[in-house]
Amino acid sequence: MTRVLRLVLMGPPGAGKGTQGELLAHRFGIPRYATGDILRASRRDGSELGRKAQSFMDAGELVPDEVILGLIGEALDTPEAQDGCLFDGFPRTVAQAEGLDTLLREAGRELDAVVNLAVSDAEIVRRLSSRRVCGDCGTVAPTGEGRRECPGCGGGLVTRPDDRPETVLRRLEVYREQTEPVLSWYRDSSTRVFDIPGTGGVARVQELILEAIAA
Ligand code: ADP
Ligand code: ZN
Repeated sequence: MTRVLRLVLMGPPGAGKGTQGELLAHRFGIPRYATGDILRASRRDGSELGRKAQSFMDAGELVPDEVILGLIGEALDTPEAQDGCLFDGFPRTVAQAEGLDTLLREAGRELDAVVNLAVSDAEIVRRLSSRRVCGDCGTVAPTGEGRRECPGCGGGLVTRPDDRPETVLRRLEVYREQTEPVLSWYRDSSTRVFDIPGTGGVARVQELILEAIAA
């Protein structure tokens, strides 16, 4: 199914944005721009962007808005982004939301909806402390399989540096202080915001999102 759709996927760290975002992007045939994934890929490549982002990420702090907006501006200029796209983990500050609004408005476009995945703090800490990712390609390992190798590339599985418990707590704080206000900002604008419980299984959450955005 292809349909012009511009979506923002929000939610605390570990809410399942990546999993749900990939399913949605695939279903609608639109590119997914996950700023966290883009930054981690840049780190692996040793690029300038990656070097700039590294210290912020490892401390659980946000990468500066102008760096993130530069990256999103470039993505929105590509041919693949013309028929819709999904933002995952962006915007994370009100300044980023305003920046996105300007970029879209200049192109004569707007967001269709914001999907907010809600998960409790206790569940987040539990999920992130057991999360393992591939050190080579960044794929999140399926849980509960006791795997030691990446199912995609065979690389070794590691704990993401920012999934250490101290850093997770800081990421949650940053989320409350800087990212939750983005939700209020969208609610006060004319953008539709859908609150979806991020628990209850991957397929069920996907179903709830599809129902919400179809309405
Ligand atoms: P999670 O949603 O699990 O916290 P992400 O992969 O989305 O993880 O982000 C990891 C880190 O990358 C963040 O803690 C932050 O340092 C940086 N980052 C990602 N997206 C943004 C953004 N939009 N603005 C600022 N920093 C970001
Ligand atoms: Zn891998």
